[in-house]
Amino acid sequence: MELPVYINDGHSDMATASAKRSASASHAARARHEQHKLAKRLRHQVGRAIADYGMIEDGDKVMVCLSGGKDSYTMLDVLLQLQAKAPVRFELVAVNLDQKQPGFPDHVLPDYLKSIGVAYTILEQDTYSVVKRVIPEGRTMCSLCSRLRRGALYEHAQREGFSKIALGHHRDDLVATFFLNLFHHAKLATMPPKLLSDDGRHVVIRPLARVAERDIEAYAAHRQFPIIPCSLCGSQENLQRKQVKRMLEEWERQAPGRIEQIANALTDVRPSQLADPELFDFLALARRGDAPLPDAHAWLGGDAQAS
Ligand code: SF4
Repeated sequence: MELPVYINDGHSDMATASAKRSASASHAARARHEQHKLAKRLRHQVGRAIADYGMIEDGDKVMVCLSGGKDSYTMLDVLLQLQAKAPVRFELVAVNLDQKQPGFPDHVLPDYLKSIGVAYTILEQDTYSVVKRVIPEGRTMCSLCSRLRRGALYEHAQREGFSKIALGHHRDDLVATFFLNLFHHAKLATMPPKLLSDDGRHVVIRPLARVAERDIEAYAAHRQFPIIPCSLCGSQENLQRKQVKRMLEEWERQAPGRIEQIANALTDVRPSQLADPELFDFLALARRGDAPLPDAHAWLGGDAQAS
């Protein structure tokens, strides 16, 4: 039997190579388009939050707290973009606290910040040893560690006259904190987008309050920020926070958009449809002008008539 003869005249190979080239070019164009859309969305959400909550005003000196994680890199990056076109003039200074965790690569942030030409300060304070000394082995160290970090950063802000302190918490952090407060402290509260510290000396802002964590992840990967993992210290994330995050992820899987829905609900609170008498004056609601105020003592004693 005569075997079939295949002749390679080079044309089909060229056609295949050209098809591959055009497929990869269109893939790259699609990816660029997606990244462009993502960057625009982040600028929009951050700009919106700044405007809605009055986070930044003319003449502000903003201390941008940079930990080396994806969130704070993204916050700084977006704030720098907005600063270039903002309707007001404000200063941005990146500040990192080197907490002396073993293995902390202390050159990474200075190298990065120099490369983008941003003013920065690296503070050094060995909070790691304090936390190690105080927290028993195997227990999560994050809460004390963050308290000490916050103290050092607030002190620096006070010393240097910063008018705002920007933190990188995002939408999903706000939602998770809401459930932690609900489940473990029986209150409806979260990290607000703007906050006056208890001593009244610092205004804390959270410009990423409307940004989804998955968008930050994608943005940080695309921008190739030199991420420094927080877990260098070997601490485990707080178990309760972990559980809440798992719960939210599961909900999101079952009903995509649910986290967004909850985040939106945090901006649409109806005091008259909740049950906090401090927040809404239920006593005054439809009260007859001449009716006496209820006497709680009498009601508790079962005697509604007693005064
Ligand atoms: S993971 Fe380590 S460095 Fe990060 S907050 Fe927790 S204790 Fe502090």
